[in-house]
Amino acid sequence: MPIARVCVFCGSSPGARPRYTEVAEGLGRLLARRGLGLVYGGGDVGLMGTVADAVLAGGGEVIGVIPESLVQAEVAHRGVTDLQIVPGMFERKQRMLDQADAFVTMPGGVGSLDELFEVLTWVQLGLLDKPCGLLDIDDYYAPLLAMLDRAVDERFLKPHHRALLVRDTDAGRLLDALETWERPPLGKWLDR
Ligand code: AMP
Repeated sequence: MPIARVCVFCGSSPGARPRYTEVAEGLGRLLARRGLGLVYGGGDVGLMGTVADAVLAGGGEVIGVIPESLVQAEVAHRGVTDLQIVPGMFERKQRMLDQADAFVTMPGGVGSLDELFEVLTWVQLGLLDKPCGLLDIDDYYAPLLAMLDRAVDERFLKPHHRALLVRDTDAGRLLDALETWERPPLGKWLDR
């Protein structure tokens, strides 16, 4: 599926390891080099700011979608191509989902987890037909992947829904996988 814009969910903090920032920079550079626009939460803090700055430095397009309250808290990135200020968190999520063709989640806290699982839930329900990737760094997400596997083992999650989350440790490989992603046919989808 052709991709023009990628939505990145990631920490509003830099995290404990320099490697998180290095990979965020690398992802941003790569998006710009591949001519892929960035859609993100519009902050200039943590890994979010790092990805946005790297895309901008590479001459790429950055759409930041941020709620009014966070603009007032002065965490909005003023240098992005298009800063879209929305009334609240629900509108932000909807706008991010609408404007991106694929999703990448990097290490982050509950905000990133919430965004990841919202997208996965929509794809699982057939409300959204877009690829969903996890850019895992230093096995940060190992416990989360183990939880998903446990949900499969305990039959709360179907294996083909579990497979919707594409995980890689390399940004280039992950983007390749998202660009060639095809949703499994509906028949299989509805199997019980
Ligand atoms: P967290 O992973 O908890 O740091 O939250 C990061 C995610 O939540 C991002 O992808 C944003 O969409 C949103 N978010 C949380 N805090 C902020 C902030 N200070 N500025 C902008 N967006 C934020």
